[in-house]
Amino acid sequence: MGGKRAELFIKGESEMLRFGAALSEVCEGGEIIFLHGDLGVGKTTSVRGFMRELGHKGAVKSPTYTLVEHYSYQGKTIYHFDLYRLGDGEELEYMGIRDYFHRNAICLIEWPERGRGYLPNADIDIKIVYEHEGQRRIHMEPKSKRGMHMFDEINGLYSASN
Ligand code: ADP
Ligand code: MG
Repeated sequence: MGGKRAELFIKGESEMLRFGAALSEVCEGGEIIFLHGDLGVGKTTSVRGFMRELGHKGAVKSPTYTLVEHYSYQGKTIYHFDLYRLGDGEELEYMGIRDYFHRNAICLIEWPERGRGYLPNADIDIKIVYEHEGQRRIHMEPKSKRGMHMFDEINGLYSASN
């Protein structure tokens, strides 16, 4: 998508929660978000920030064994996938993966590379990488027109507060 990219520097866990909240603010329904990054880097933490922003008070655990967890808030359905333990992409066919990507659902997908060939394209690719200690760097890349809009809005939120 025009090769647009942006990086955000994250100082600690609370900033990762804030990033997730920002992501949530720019979603209207129907977005597909890929969350890349090594184990323990903070993908689920960002989803936690996302869910809290929508008013979720309970726990957000990575659905490592169930593959998907769903939530309903503010008239939106949110599907949180963790495909780390996905054996074969075909398993996604068996679970009826296509039904999850409907117009109003927001899909946040950890380890999307494990479902390659079975997942639709992302609107935005988020990659989290380790820096020193509790610091992280987030790389964002829009992959669709909708993703471009999200990307601009997130950048706007960050430049407004810095
Ligand atoms: P993932 O889903 O990528 O495997 P998690 O979000 O489950 O990772 O775990 C991230 C872990 O790293 C948590 O234990 C969290 O407390 C810790 N952590 C430390 N610094 C950060 C940070 N800057 N952002 C996110 N998590 C952090
Ligand atoms: Mg996780």
